[in-house]
Amino acid sequence: MRWERFILKYLCPDFYHTNICEINLRYLKKIGIRGIICDLDNTLLAWDNHEVRPEFKEWILKAKRLGISICILSNSLQERVNRIARKLEVPAISKALKPRKKAFKLAINRLDLIPNKVAVVGDQLFTDIYGGNRLRLLTILVEPMGKKEFISTQVIRLIEKKVKKYLKSKSLI
Ligand SMILES: [Mg+2]
Repeated sequence: MRWERFILKYLCPDFYHTNICEINLRYLKKIGIRGIICDLDNTLLAWDNHEVRPEFKEWILKAKRLGISICILSNSLQERVNRIARKLEVPAISKALKPRKKAFKLAINRLDLIPNKVAVVGDQLFTDIYGGNRLRLLTILVEPMGKKEFISTQVIRLIEKKVKKYLKSKSLI
């Protein structure tokens, strides 16, 4: 079926974790990953929150220590994204309009890496994973941290739920 092919090609992540701390950074380094394009809302912190959890900050530090650079790529507004990026001391691109390719290409350039050394981490199939897979980047899906979201996102979540159910039925996540 056509929709099945689409899901498997574009919406299936390479890895699936409950949160970013579960991502094995040493393994990523071993397979050649040197940069991570990281989503902000509901990946690094809850949508209505301003503080990144200490263990998540630690995860970012660990990535840096391993020689894996982080670039935040978010569809959120500049002020909020920059404030958090400054605290974490990582570069950031706001108002990215993910899943458009240009956003991910900008982030790859910011990391100063070639695409096959870059992974994408995010909580949304239709922005983070779809965008990453379109450019054949390594994609890592995490569970959203909070329930609060834009109305538009809430609508997309309904479809996402069905796709996740399908991927789970195939043991792909
Ligand atoms: Mg998100």
